[in-house]
Amino acid sequence: PYRFRGRHITVAGLGVSGVPAARALHGLGAHVTVVNDGDDERARSQAAELERLGIAVRLGEQAASTLPEGTELVVTAPGWKPGKPLFVAAGQAGVPIWGDVELAWRLRGPDAPPWLAVTGTNGKTTTVRMLASILEAAGLRTAAVGNIGVSLLDAVLGDERYDVLAVELSSYQLHWSSSLRAHSAAVLNLAPDHLDWHGSMEAYAADKGRVYEGNRIACVYNVDATDKPSTEDLVREADVEEGCRAVGFTLGTPGPSQLGVVDGILVDRAFVEDRQGSAQELAEVADVDPPAPHNIANALAAAALARAYGVPAAAVRDGLRAFTPDAHRIAHVADVDGVAYVDDSKATNTHAAQASLAAYESIVWIAGGLAKGATFDELVARSAKRLRGVVLIGADRALIREALARHAPEVPVVDLDRTDTGAMLQAVQEAKRLARPGDTVLLAPACASMDMFANYNRRGEAFARAVRELGA
Ligand code: ADP
Repeated sequence: PYRFRGRHITVAGLGVSGVPAARALHGLGAHVTVVNDGDDERARSQAAELERLGIAVRLGEQAASTLPEGTELVVTAPGWKPGKPLFVAAGQAGVPIWGDVELAWRLRGPDAPPWLAVTGTNGKTTTVRMLASILEAAGLRTAAVGNIGVSLLDAVLGDERYDVLAVELSSYQLHWSSSLRAHSAAVLNLAPDHLDWHGSMEAYAADKGRVYEGNRIACVYNVDATDKPSTEDLVREADVEEGCRAVGFTLGTPGPSQLGVVDGILVDRAFVEDRQGSAQELAEVADVDPPAPHNIANALAAAALARAYGVPAAAVRDGLRAFTPDAHRIAHVADVDGVAYVDDSKATNTHAAQASLAAYESIVWIAGGLAKGATFDELVARSAKRLRGVVLIGADRALIREALARHAPEVPVVDLDRTDTGAMLQAVQEAKRLARPGDTVLLAPACASMDMFANYNRRGEAFARAVRELGA
């Protein structure tokens, strides 16, 4: 185990991961220096709090680019980009760089609960919450942690006792972790996202694939994925423990060692309880909320991880029934004049937007925001037939407008050239004008929200508010 006492450790970034990391390391007797590129009011108040404990904090772009003298280890916030001068300097000095997940993994105690890990481009939060619900239904002490709700560090260092953890991991967190060994892990899907951060699709896929490294019981992959590399390719490339199985999930009829769907029933052919049987019935499609195809895939992945942990079939059913989806994930807001208004603000990339566009027949689509290096041709080409009209908002809307001109030239487009707080209200009004009874007005931006909103929650709330104003 790593000895922290007396070590000079630099924590890169304040905020949700940096502040608890700095506190924990300080508590273990390390000499901690925190560097942070911003020096706004929030940073200053967090800095003051840490300084009171005797932790050094350096604020500002310059400070965040310079490796403090004598640093033996860097612990970084997951979102910091690999190419930063601080990391280049650390690399040259041979100083290891850990993310928050690596730190949590190293700090966990000897009788720590095993991790069931979930990553993927889309569906992570939903799947991890479904998994936690299933584990709870089996009477296990568990929590959904990681890139969601409870921080991993809190789960690992807190007083609460767990039997097993349902862990959501982002591609950033995986990039900065190296010694994690999960009980079992799933990569739900892989589509281009955050490529501006990772540098290439190959690098992004490789970072996701790290979740399989050292798995002990099962590597869960998506049989239906068409993107390359597939999640099955990542399993094949991973170095796992002897006896660890590859377990697939599919929306079709499952083969051996797979979970899938037969006549509206979720079935398991990988972990069969009765030796005579060749398939175990788990739950009905109708037990999954909402029963849209992408969400059934999430339920199958959650079931696969739970089954790998030994959870009985009845608990899978009970856990899925007890599960309710989070806000801003294909949430029905209201019907106004025969038109349904649906908030999928969480569709922050093209792959997610494609899943929600595929769930409706005739759509007025509200899209746009920060594209993060994405292209929109495939999304628009695949969805063109379903579009009644499109309302574009946000910084990178020209990219979507151009894709629409190429693949759906006949679809009417309203291009809103404003980013003030009233923009969403106008977008919803324009959408209402385009919609006919029976249509769905769908906020599925395919982009990040930060050009106009603090986060996707705020964007979804603005949409819901605007819809309520329409109805009023
Ligand atoms: P994440 O935590 O990976 O961002 P969420 O569970 O929060 O995933 O879902 C985000 C969005 O991704 C949803 O609003 C929906 O549009 C879409 N989505 C969810 N599951 C899938 C899936 N399996 N495949 C494609 N898109 C999905």
